[in-house]
Amino acid sequence: MHYKAYCFDLDGTIYRGKAGIDSAIQFVHQLQAQGIEPFYLTNNSSKTRETIQQMLHDMGITAPLEHIYSSSLATAKYVAKMSKDKRVNVVGEQGIRTALLQEGLIITEEQADILVMGIDRQMTYEKLAKASVYVQNGAVLVGTNGDIKFPNEDSFVPGNGSFVHLIANVAGVTPIFVGKPSPLMLQIMADDHGFDKCQMVMVGDNYDTDILCGINFGCDTIHVNTGVTPTAIVKQQAQLPTYCVENLLELIK
Ligand SMILES: [Mg+2]
Repeated sequence: MHYKAYCFDLDGTIYRGKAGIDSAIQFVHQLQAQGIEPFYLTNNSSKTRETIQQMLHDMGITAPLEHIYSSSLATAKYVAKMSKDKRVNVVGEQGIRTALLQEGLIITEEQADILVMGIDRQMTYEKLAKASVYVQNGAVLVGTNGDIKFPNEDSFVPGNGSFVHLIANVAGVTPIFVGKPSPLMLQIMADDHGFDKCQMVMVGDNYDTDILCGINFGCDTIHVNTGVTPTAIVKQQAQLPTYCVENLLELIK
């Protein structure tokens, strides 16, 4: 392994729920001992950089704030670049709201040029109706991530992508998604830190988000069999990851 920027997914890669995955934590420590400070990229839009930093800290990983990218943060950076008047309509929780404000954007209830949608677990019909009007009146629909569902105990519950597609269907538009598998997240991180694609590797458990994100961006990828997509399924895909491992301890040499 010869990379300068290791970009780790979080859930299913570094931890499961609130429990750290030992092999991943050991691998992170090994990289840090070599002077390589990893990056963390999550599609979760409800948590701030500070919250994620604290979660990692509780599992024994110290991570600089500027190495942590949630889909909220990446979306805020993306929207700040594309917005002319810095005003946005928002559906979502504190994670996306804080990120937008920190990028100098103004959250308004009046019609704006962009509607940003992150997961909102207090979703109501009224919020969906309002959002669909903003988009029908011309707001560009930007979703933090397109995840249709996410695991909850022993089944799945609706993810942000389900709501974004609902609005897109009503308004008859195609949404922009910033989170994985869009390459935008890796692009934003590479721009911020001055990395070239050939210096980067995306590490994750989910083929459809993490691995495709790396492939779409054009960097190397490592699939780890500790989460969503079993290795057997990964091996059936047309585009394969650069490496497949059972757990990250296999990478320690
Ligand atoms: Mg994952």
